[in-house]
Amino acid sequence: MAGSPLSDSHLAPDVIANTLWDTVVIGTGFGGSMMALQLARAGQRVLLLERGSWVARDESAWDPTAILLERKYQSETAVVRENGVRQHPDELVGGNSVIYGTASLRMREADLTMGSLLSSAERPESAFVDWPIRYAELEPYYAEAEQLLGVAGVAGSDPTEPTRSSPFPFEPAPYSTSAQMLADAATARGLHPFPLPVAINFSGAGGRTKCIQCGTCDLFPCKLGAKNDLAVTVLPEAIRLGAVVRPRTIVERLVHSGGRITSVECIDMDSRARFTVRAGNFVVSAGAVASSALLLRSGLDAMGPNGRLIGRHLMLHCSGIAIGIFLRRTNPEDRFLKQVAISDFYFGAAGQSPEQNREWWGVIQALQVPPREYLMAMAPVPFKRPSAATRGYHLYAICLAHDEPNPENRVMLHPTDRDPYGLALAQVIHRYSERDLRARDALHAEARKLLRKAGAVLQFRRPIETLSHAVGTCRMGDDPEHAVLDPWCQFFGVPNLHVVDGSFMPTSGAVNPSLTIAANALRVGAHLAGLAGCRTAP
Ligand SMILES: Cc1cc2nc3c(=O)[nH]c(=O)nc-3n(C[C@H](O)[C@H](O)[C@H](O)COP(=O)(O)OP(=O)(O)OC[C@H]3O[C@@H](n4cnc5c(N)ncnc54)[C@H](O)[C@@H]3O)c2cc1C
Ligand code: SF4
Repeated sequence: MAGSPLSDSHLAPDVIANTLWDTVVIGTGFGGSMMALQLARAGQRVLLLERGSWVARDESAWDPTAILLERKYQSETAVVRENGVRQHPDELVGGNSVIYGTASLRMREADLTMGSLLSSAERPESAFVDWPIRYAELEPYYAEAEQLLGVAGVAGSDPTEPTRSSPFPFEPAPYSTSAQMLADAATARGLHPFPLPVAINFSGAGGRTKCIQCGTCDLFPCKLGAKNDLAVTVLPEAIRLGAVVRPRTIVERLVHSGGRITSVECIDMDSRARFTVRAGNFVVSAGAVASSALLLRSGLDAMGPNGRLIGRHLMLHCSGIAIGIFLRRTNPEDRFLKQVAISDFYFGAAGQSPEQNREWWGVIQALQVPPREYLMAMAPVPFKRPSAATRGYHLYAICLAHDEPNPENRVMLHPTDRDPYGLALAQVIHRYSERDLRARDALHAEARKLLRKAGAVLQFRRPIETLSHAVGTCRMGDDPEHAVLDPWCQFFGVPNLHVVDGSFMPTSGAVNPSLTIAANALRVGAHLAGLAGCRTAP
């Protein structure tokens, strides 16, 4: 994009096509960027193909009308939901990291052995499965991801935090008024609230502009570049090491022959020219929905026993927002709010261990109250003006529960609908299990008690129906009968194809997924690059 310091990476299609790349990475989100960094560190010639543009860090970045209503970065390619509703994701270099809420939590150690822990005599066939790796194998990469993303947090403050080998690289900012209200209410109820680890530059580290704790963070790009998104952290480093990012490029399909991927067919979104890129290795990291659509468009579902599982086991988290309305201003400073979390209910009722309970619940986190313009546009008709007028008296908490993996929850290609480039749209079929809904209800009940304790006089709840936490559609495992990918995220039967976005996750956990996707991509990237200590298969 003109104006980007990295605009010289927009190479012409013939230059891209006439270069033999060591590795082509599709998608620049957490999976793709971390993978590219590892390979670039090892001296590989890496090309990242990304359909989004570089974000503009100008006035539009914090303009609710431009970002939320006019949807400046909205993809032309929709995803069709179960009820026929079309959802258009944003598309940007750096993937959703550019607009994410920056919550950076590690999965709990028990999350990776949920299958064994939750199987029982009464329910031998738990839908939850064990991961083919253990937390200890991910831990060093979680630590590295926290460093690369500059996560600010307090080690030891989260009561269900897994073991860690190093402290957080940065300290969080002091609580805002509303975060303090939620934390005080939780403490008064005997819980253990803690500062939510966030990937935000509060100190001006690296000579970058520091965060001013504005009210437009989650859902928005950061105008100052103080959010540690991939476009200001990992991608510039990968580019410095020689990786090339080509924005506004759609990968249409992977071409395969003799059990290997030989090339990818691409579309230049500006000229609509189609071109082919060859490489030795291919890494798909287009996000859990788009990656499945790409693999299906490429005919990989016909390969091996694992191909038929592409797109299945889609998980979204079972989430909802608890809204409290107060008689006093909840955010007099009009500041950033996503600062406090409560994990006491991770394994069920407060204080229970993973072994004690067969129905795990999840986490509660403070959430940013959307801007006035958004409430006016999105609230149901009778509530538009009242909710916009009382915005300064709201407090939001997100309840985030596990989503049970189910092969019938899946991504498919729409039989008839095409995008403006002639590509079949992805169609999503997803229903929560009774277990998931019970867990979300239980978290909502606890959030209600917290909001009441904090002084809320009115309360509402609303479900989250987006695909923002989509994971699981190409799960990894030990056996191609039950998993698409092997434990190193290699597509079973295709040695030069790996998938490292959120698709790889066999279970969703009940924490925000980005740090886990980043850590796993660093793990797989180190393995592929043959970096020290990473050669042995788990
Ligand atoms: C508003 C919002 C807030 C969020 N907040 C948090 C949070 O606070 N904490 C957290 O942990 N998670 C959060 N998430 C979720 C998190 O952002 C995702 O889990 C994460 O970004 C997924 O990473 P990924 O690598 O799987 O894919 P993505 O980040 O989705 O990246 C995939 C990339 O591939 C590109 N692409 C897709 N198809 C193609 C194609 N055919 N050709 C070329 N490129 C393609 C896309 O444009 C995109 O850039 C949030 C998500 C949203 C939307
Ligand atoms: S809260 Fe901080 S990091 Fe987030 S958008 Fe505002 S200035 Fe940027």
